[in-house]
Amino acid sequence: MTHTRVLIIGSGPAGLTAAIYAGRAQLRPLVIEGEPSSTTDQPGGQLMLTTDIENFPGFPEALSGPELMERMRAQAERFGAELRVTKVQRLDTTTRPFRAWLSEDGDEPSVTADAVILATGAKSLMMGVPGEERLLSHGLSTCATCDGFFFRGHDIAVVGGGDSAAEEALFLTRFANSVTIVHRRDTLRASKIMQERVFANEKIRFAWNSQAVEVLGEDRVSGLRVRDTRSGEERVLAVTGIFVAIGHLPNTTLILDQLDLEDNGYVRTGPGSFTSVDGLFAAGDVQDHVYRQAVTSAGSGCVAAIDAERWLEAQGH
Ligand code: NAP
Repeated sequence: MTHTRVLIIGSGPAGLTAAIYAGRAQLRPLVIEGEPSSTTDQPGGQLMLTTDIENFPGFPEALSGPELMERMRAQAERFGAELRVTKVQRLDTTTRPFRAWLSEDGDEPSVTADAVILATGAKSLMMGVPGEERLLSHGLSTCATCDGFFFRGHDIAVVGGGDSAAEEALFLTRFANSVTIVHRRDTLRASKIMQERVFANEKIRFAWNSQAVEVLGEDRVSGLRVRDTRSGEERVLAVTGIFVAIGHLPNTTLILDQLDLEDNGYVRTGPGSFTSVDGLFAAGDVQDHVYRQAVTSAGSGCVAAIDAERWLEAQGH
């Protein structure tokens, strides 16, 4: 069993920035990074699925998500953070110190911690239509960066109207024959600059006022059935690839029923990163449904580390 003063769960920009700050405060934080097998809570978080990051200050030439995360990881380790590629299976916040289990079996916890920073991020929302689950990874994906390469010469649908949908669509034009953005309204939610880019791209088409109702195909995607939100009429888009980019859900399974959540399921924080459980702090997308940027997430990781440090000091740890 390991005892740590600060246990950080998650290794996206929030978790790793918290690790850098807690490391520099000589707290020797333990970071449980997540597992590579999962696209939702893998080490590095959602930025591992991002191509070019153009809006992280200090990188005017842009850099890739994985590169940014690698730099943050190295920086955290430089200041004494211990990083472990594994998952927290269970967390008990009712006892002091807090207890965490890294394997499914065993009564004894693997880690005890004086303070915990929850930075577990968020995962992709799914459409919940027939055929979607069955054809996931068989022509249907939530990550263009991961899977786009396999769709060379395909006609692809990207579902959603936000920045993620715009970004996925633009990235996919590198491989696809055509990309159709399928959006349930007639205006995009995406930022102006992303809108300009998708409108200017000759490979990108739009299915406006279109709600996806069924993913078609036996073993692989062969089409997407959509319903016109005004007339109710249905038609089939002849696509062999579908990318779902309709938003995210916070990863709160570990702490459900242990702390206060917002009505939409995100962890309630404030002031700063304080949660309703004393000594448990939250940072990044698990508590932010508004901004969700790499830089805001990193900023909230910094806040959580400072809050945790001051809290530990006040507790006499
Ligand atoms: P988002 O902004 O919440 O957009 C989700 C989109 O999916 C909306 O257009 C929404 O439609 C649609 N949608 C939601 N549920 C749906 C359903 N069941 N069926 C069909 N469509 C559905 O999410 P996001 O695009 O993932 O972006 C999240 C945040 O990350 C934003 O703050 C964004 O700016 C940021 N982000 C930034 C970048 C970048 O700067 N390069 C890249 C990616 C994400 P409605 O519009 O009708 O609600």
